[in-house]
Amino acid sequence: MQINVATLLQEKVGSRRKLTIENELVQLPEFKYSREINGSANLLRIKRGILVSAKIDITLELQCARCLCDFESTYLLQFDEEFVLSEPHPITAELPAYDEEDFLIDKYWHLDLSEAIRQYEQTAVPLVPLCTSECVGLDKGIILESANHLDNRWAALSGLAKQLEEEESDGIT
Ligand SMILES: [Zn+2]
Repeated sequence: MQINVATLLQEKVGSRRKLTIENELVQLPEFKYSREINGSANLLRIKRGILVSAKIDITLELQCARCLCDFESTYLLQFDEEFVLSEPHPITAELPAYDEEDFLIDKYWHLDLSEAIRQYEQTAVPLVPLCTSECVGLDKGIILESANHLDNRWAALSGLAKQLEEEESDGIT
């Protein structure tokens, strides 16, 4: 998901843009990563490049670790990340120091949020996803269900017994 920041980079430090993100596709083929995202991003021109403050909703299809059912869950990814110039600024010639950990602005003055989104998603999604916090899981679910059946049968029997009792007492009077 590329954002053109050419104009903002030519403005003075402190200049801002607000971006609305609607049904944007984020793709990283090398990770087989593909997501549709919604949200917003504030871009702030800083000395080293652009500071992105993003709030992104991401909806995932997950499998419950207990009952194995598939379910959808939406997570809010919220992050502030610096995107640093990787080529000298053509006007000011500035080129800040950066290392391989930094997110970079490419030579076409695009910044790409995809990798940041992928990384923040990994920290947001639980390692053991559950369909509901009360999920009792597969085995217990079956036991619970048969226990319910049993209860129903007992309820029917005790209802019958009560009915018979009443009929009997009717007979006596
Ligand atoms: Zn479950």
